[in-house]
Amino acid sequence: MEHLVCLKVHELDLGPHDRHDLGRALVDYGHLYFVLHRVYDALLVPVEYPDSLDPGLGLSMLPRFGSRYARDLARLIVDDHVPAFLKLPDFDLFRTHGIHFDSIDKVWALKYLTEWGKGAEGSLDGLCHLHEEIMAVKGPSNEYVDIAESIDERELLELCRELIRIPSVYREEKRIAKFIASRLDKWKLTPELVPVEGYGPSVVARIGPENRPAIVLNGHMDTVEVKEGWKHDPFGAKVEKGMLYGLGSLDMKCGLASLMLAFRTIAHSNRRLDCSIVFQAVSGEEDNSAGTRALISAGRFRNAKAVIVGEGIGSLDVVTIGRRGGSYYDIWVSGKSAHGSTPRLGVNAISDAAKIVTAVDKMGMRSAHGVMADNSSPLRESQLVLGVSGNSTSYSVPEKCHIRMMRATVPGKPYDICREIEATIKKLKLNSKVEVRLKVGSGDPYLPHMTPAKSELVKVTRKWNAHYTGKEPSLVCGLSEADDNTIAKEVGIPVVCVGPGEKGALARYHQPEEAISISQLGTAARIHCSAVLELARAK
Ligand SMILES: [Zn+2]
Repeated sequence: MEHLVCLKVHELDLGPHDRHDLGRALVDYGHLYFVLHRVYDALLVPVEYPDSLDPGLGLSMLPRFGSRYARDLARLIVDDHVPAFLKLPDFDLFRTHGIHFDSIDKVWALKYLTEWGKGAEGSLDGLCHLHEEIMAVKGPSNEYVDIAESIDERELLELCRELIRIPSVYREEKRIAKFIASRLDKWKLTPELVPVEGYGPSVVARIGPENRPAIVLNGHMDTVEVKEGWKHDPFGAKVEKGMLYGLGSLDMKCGLASLMLAFRTIAHSNRRLDCSIVFQAVSGEEDNSAGTRALISAGRFRNAKAVIVGEGIGSLDVVTIGRRGGSYYDIWVSGKSAHGSTPRLGVNAISDAAKIVTAVDKMGMRSAHGVMADNSSPLRESQLVLGVSGNSTSYSVPEKCHIRMMRATVPGKPYDICREIEATIKKLKLNSKVEVRLKVGSGDPYLPHMTPAKSELVKVTRKWNAHYTGKEPSLVCGLSEADDNTIAKEVGIPVVCVGPGEKGALARYHQPEEAISISQLGTAARIHCSAVLELARAK
């Protein structure tokens, strides 16, 4: 497998970004190889396309296919043995905005596609020519790039460290809010403090024309509490071997700093903006999205047409365009009391609840076809029993028991599964009476959401991410609930999450020794800056 990758790298004359990432690529290609096997299986029996090759996975892997595989895939596509969504996406995107090295395979694949479509064989010369053509359309350096390039990485790192040094566990955001406001003030960006009951205030600033659609930059200032096991000082902001250590480094003070500097850079660029740009540093995110909810209630999303949250779970390899939802259920089990010495005369609600827990744990989970999760696996529902309570204080058969459970829901699938839970329980033929209720109230249920990949927000964010990272980001759906669920549900506008972060073993979110690689910080801020300039149609 390694051999194939090296050959490919040589063959395609990849740029420094890709060479630099070769180690990681090997891991990716290992995974790809597995998928390729399946594609070959499909070629041998072209009529039956294997279900096990998830369409989402196929789509995300496609950019990485080399020529030979691309050709075979192309044949599958042309022959219509592959569902339409496996077709190559957004070629115009490359044509308009330039091709990046990791996308070369897409060009190969496209070329082959075209050739195969016409019934002709693709040739290496033709491919090289096409590549040159595309590089030519890329054009001279864009002015949005020039503005974003002015962001000083050292200043950004220093700002991240200053934010980390101010403890801001949720409900204790007052100090950090004051610091952010005073910094914005120093930059002449007229911040406002918006009170949030029970928490420190959120900080809001706006630039650009009033009464025009607004692009909102949203990031939270609060962190979770200090977990056990820190070796570094969680508020020391120490940089060691390229990593910045500290509570909130990943979640999400560096993302917030990146949004802040992007906001200032745009403001000071003195461009004429067609939209206003709103910066929001919110409190209480780690505790039920209190800050963002308060801003929504206070009408602070009025005129908003798109929201970028600067949180980077999954690193800059991904743009999170959706979120799973969360539906919470109460299950009440009513048995029958009897003297403890004669349990058979009663119905033990706790014993029945135990059977229910075992049964609901075996319920089937649905997948969202063609959607990837932020952990790079196909997006699926998951379910969790959160609590069981019931007891008998006297020597009696327990007559009541309560179960609390949640289902993480996926876009396009039902969010209320009361009937399914009831059906699962019915099969148990229990003697207890059982009632299942979906929790409905302030914020509940969290609905899953997905911002369309074709929306301007996603296209622009994805484009600038690819531009600065040199790699096409995967469009993913976040596994966890977050502020974006609330924004999507209450405000109903496109929202994405993109920002500095980590994945795999380094993704120590809500864990001790939280740290972030500092080499990505400038890239993140430039993505934020260029994307917002374009969304606000800066002139
Ligand atoms: Zn967070």
